[in-house]
Amino acid sequence: MRWLMGTFWEIETPGIPASDAVSAAFAEIRRLDDLLSHYKPESELSRLNAHGQAVVPQELADLIGRCLAYSAESQGAFDITVAPLVELWGFKDMAPRVPSPSDLALARQTVGWQRVSVSGNGVRMAPGTRLEFGAIGKGYALDRAMAVLTRAGIARARIDAGGQQLVRGTWTIGILHPRCDGLLGSVTVTNQSVATSGDTERFFIHDGIRYNHHIDPRTGWPSTDFASVTIVAPDAEAADALGTLSTVAGPEAARPIVAAHHAEALWYGADGRVRTTPGFRWQPESPGPKGDPGTTRGQQVD
Ligand code: AMP
Ligand code: MG
Repeated sequence: MRWLMGTFWEIETPGIPASDAVSAAFAEIRRLDDLLSHYKPESELSRLNAHGQAVVPQELADLIGRCLAYSAESQGAFDITVAPLVELWGFKDMAPRVPSPSDLALARQTVGWQRVSVSGNGVRMAPGTRLEFGAIGKGYALDRAMAVLTRAGIARARIDAGGQQLVRGTWTIGILHPRCDGLLGSVTVTNQSVATSGDTERFFIHDGIRYNHHIDPRTGWPSTDFASVTIVAPDAEAADALGTLSTVAGPEAARPIVAAHHAEALWYGADGRVRTTPGFRWQPESPGPKGDPGTTRGQQVD
């Protein structure tokens, strides 16, 4: 286990003792944190954010390009220019608060994926715009770390980035219940990633409404409708991005996008209602002693 990108990472390679490959995979995650972090002032991303335009490593330009594609697909529900809003609502420094209308209006002027352009490895942003990979960086790093293990000939592995998982081989992965102890259910997956975007860690309650760290860049306001969204996707980058996207966009708008990426999704509503895409195969858990089947489990509606 290692603490990286603000979370615990765990690599499991059954039958193979902790090896150079596992160390190399952790080193790869650390390298990506140094590239992509918006917490580290010396990262390539922070350099880009400070200057508004820069020639960056191709890998970074490519990732930004794929983020812009998710923005276009979701009509702006997924948008890495959301950074100033995440800060304003206090979700970056974990001191959440409702901002003043004037601060909100000011921040919103700098938000919008059309304010970013990528050409080769050059990135240019309109004044004041800043990027962050909170919604996709761990997923990308999971894919790169698994590639290190695969290149080393490891055929069966599980990498866990604070709950988001990517597996080689077949594994059963638990989905934590967003409202009570224990599991909501589990999924059995092969060579896939399982990511959950949730409201259980970064949230605050104001006037009886639970706001979480997913912000709709089009309104400037945090999302309130879903306690968690779980995605099963062929790769971790897609699982991560689609989890965030599907939380902000909601089931109706997200379904075709999830399908286009050969992924499946489960929404656990703030009202306890469970909705899934038609192909989401899972084993729901029986409610534990703390569970209240009437309000916390909901029902599955395809
Ligand atoms: P995740 O846990 O993968 O859903 O990512 C949540 C994080 O993504 C938040 O803490 C923000 O840093 C960032 N974020 C919030 N809203 C959005 C959005 N609409 N599009 C892209 N990133 C977002
Ligand atoms: Mg995400």
